[in-house]
Amino acid sequence: MANESKETLISGDKKTPIVYFVLPCYNEVEGLNHTADVLRQKMTQLINESLIDSRSRVLFVDDGSHDGTWELIEKIHASDANLFGGVKLAHNRGHQNALYAGLMAAYSAGCDAAISMDADLQDDVDASDEMIKQFSEQHCEIVYGVRSSREKDTWFKRNTANLFYSVFAWMGAETISNHADYRLMGKASLEALSQYREVNLFLRGIVPTLGFKTGKVYYKRGIREAGESKYPLKKMIAFAIEGITSFSTKPLKFVTSIGVLSILVGLGMLIYVIVSVFTNHAVIGWGSMMCSLWLIGGFLMLSLGIVGEYVGKIYLETKQRPRYYVETSL
Ligand code: UDP
Ligand code: MG
Repeated sequence: MANESKETLISGDKKTPIVYFVLPCYNEVEGLNHTADVLRQKMTQLINESLIDSRSRVLFVDDGSHDGTWELIEKIHASDANLFGGVKLAHNRGHQNALYAGLMAAYSAGCDAAISMDADLQDDVDASDEMIKQFSEQHCEIVYGVRSSREKDTWFKRNTANLFYSVFAWMGAETISNHADYRLMGKASLEALSQYREVNLFLRGIVPTLGFKTGKVYYKRGIREAGESKYPLKKMIAFAIEGITSFSTKPLKFVTSIGVLSILVGLGMLIYVIVSVFTNHAVIGWGSMMCSLWLIGGFLMLSLGIVGEYVGKIYLETKQRPRYYVETSL
């Protein structure tokens, strides 16, 4: 299969791409049959319109479910083995890891592009037509699905999500706002992604750093078709902290700033105390206490910040991210 898709690329863009749909599934037994039906129709339409190759597939990744999701995936696979495939993770490793596992499986199977989406069909499947067109016709290597409206999400989810995107951007990480994990990635960007060996995965942050020509497709986000969200508040907070700490060492740098600020306050007080000595209204003992408190505190914070700078460097080094990825050479 790998050789076949190489031919697809070499023989030019006229050939229709082999596209894999990758869906992470965690306890999705309630809605998976419906999702498979919708995707079967979608794939048939895309193949008939010659937008994708008939060797394209849907890949379900079972993220260690315990409600019979894998047995259902086996059944769906048995109903049409060419169209539906599955990958079973031995235990629950979370959405991002499950998605990564699926993308890498699609890449190794020799796809030309992979579209990742949630198993609950909250993301409009029809937007994938436009994604594939941008990939094939405009040569976009990555096409992001962006929610044009989130009115179907709860007020809480919408606002916490917006807050997260703002903090994340402020921390210096690149993200596409209102984009979750509904996106198309071509073979080259999958290859680049495969070189990221970090264990704490936050794909929404990594993918924009890959580069390449990108495109966007806007769609309306729907409600969950079946079952309930697998992202309760606890997981959402953990996800946000994971995102920020795996991308930014800014929190460490804050300590340095607080240290400098504290030293400045201490110096200000020192000046005030000296002035009050000369103007004869000094309070005995107060000046030495306050100045040493702020100055020592400041120096301690600054030292912590300096250690933090090194810890930050070590942290980034341990990720062993690729320094660069060559897109083409002539
Ligand atoms: N998911 C997963 N592992 C988990 C949690 C979620 O694979 O530990 C999958 C889930 O089956 C779904 C997708 O990730 O396909 C997004 O989850 P969900 O729809 O519950 O999140 P929400 O849309 O509420 O943010
Ligand atoms: Mg969902």
